[in-house]
Amino acid sequence: MAVAISASRAGGNVILLEKSAACGGTMANSLIHTIGGLYDSEGNDINGGLPVELVERLHAADSNTRQRKIGRTWTLSVDPHVYQQVTQAWLREEKNIRFLPDAVVNQLSVQGNTITSVKLSVSGEPLGINAPLAVIDTTGCADIIRKINKDLAMEDDPPPLAALIFQLKNVPPDMMEFPKNIALLRKIRRAAEKGEIPEQCAHAWIDKGVTKNEIYVKLSVSLDGDWRDSSIQAALVRKSEEARDALLVYVKRLPGLCDVTPGKTGVLGIRDGGRFYGNYQLTVDDVRSLTKFDDCACKCCWPIEYWDSVTGVELEYLEAGGYYEIPLRSLSVRGYTNLWGAGKCLSADRLAQASARVIGSCWAMGQAVGCAVTGH
Ligand SMILES: Cc1cc2nc3c(=O)[nH]c(=O)nc-3n(C[C@H](O)[C@H](O)[C@H](O)COP(=O)(O)OP(=O)(O)OC[C@H]3O[C@@H](n4cnc5c(N)ncnc54)[C@H](O)[C@@H]3O)c2cc1C
Repeated sequence: MAVAISASRAGGNVILLEKSAACGGTMANSLIHTIGGLYDSEGNDINGGLPVELVERLHAADSNTRQRKIGRTWTLSVDPHVYQQVTQAWLREEKNIRFLPDAVVNQLSVQGNTITSVKLSVSGEPLGINAPLAVIDTTGCADIIRKINKDLAMEDDPPPLAALIFQLKNVPPDMMEFPKNIALLRKIRRAAEKGEIPEQCAHAWIDKGVTKNEIYVKLSVSLDGDWRDSSIQAALVRKSEEARDALLVYVKRLPGLCDVTPGKTGVLGIRDGGRFYGNYQLTVDDVRSLTKFDDCACKCCWPIEYWDSVTGVELEYLEAGGYYEIPLRSLSVRGYTNLWGAGKCLSADRLAQASARVIGSCWAMGQAVGCAVTGH
């Protein structure tokens, strides 16, 4: 979305392809309610332009949108549904963007090192795009780049934990205040350890919601090498939904929580769907040593937040007040003149991606690529 908006504002004619029925990606569909990567360690905007405009639009759309400090980081607390509505309306407002949902990219033709045409179908109808100025993969999993050449996709690392996130509604507002929130989490985890509810709940995370009567519950899901298979994903989701249902029954039996009701459940959230090989690979050393680049695309200071499938989440904060930069070369695909990527599939090693993948940074990367491909 950020690529499309920045390229269209620079005069480009943009076709934004989306495989599902609506925009919003992982944030809207997996129910992420705290946008990271928008602020520095003082809570000020870390990148200008579209990320700042996004924040303004989200505030204007919902009075529950608010800046929120979590640990040493600053986030924007937003209802994922509001995010989807705001971005959808924004795309409609921009001239020069043709948003095509239900789009499937079937084939990309390459001459030398340039993409010369794209064949796709939109709601089953064939469509061709000839001589694109640029093709930008923002699929979050390098899906398009992989179609061109699977060797350009980086996927040797073990996948980090995925998650199924769901909301609980009608929760008494004080339940997520300290120390009641910790007590609730401990009860859930202990019940799982005792076998009263599925073992998956032993690693559950809970967080206050965007409105005062809701909470978000995150159930971690281990992925194997074959996780891309849709039937395997469906089985993982079914098992996680059983854990969700058991957790709800358990929670409703706790004092003061009998009125709790289920809210929405997100789709399985994949933190790292595979990255691509760009003209530069951002490394964890770049992140730790706060490296700056001549071809800076955007600034980032989110901690390295890696969800290891064996040891759980590991959070490594960067030096307070510091930031690193993502170079534009990490967003252009190695060996091609008009093929780019932005967002969580950027060219980075797994730990660098574990910092750079947050939503605010994805918007900033997208903005930079939109400008670069239109020569701005
Ligand atoms: C469990 C979990 C918790 C997280 N928590 C946070 C958090 O608290 N704060 C935060 O800032 N970030 C969080 N993140 C990270 C963040 O949500 C993602 O890294 C970020 O949203 C990625 O954005 P993206 O635009 O790169 O990809 P996505 O948001 O995944 O968007 C990709 C889009 O491309 C579409 N697409 C995919 N393949 C194709 C195709 N072949 N053709 C057409 N369209 C296609 C998809 O449908 C989707 O709309 C979390 C992620 C997960 C999984």
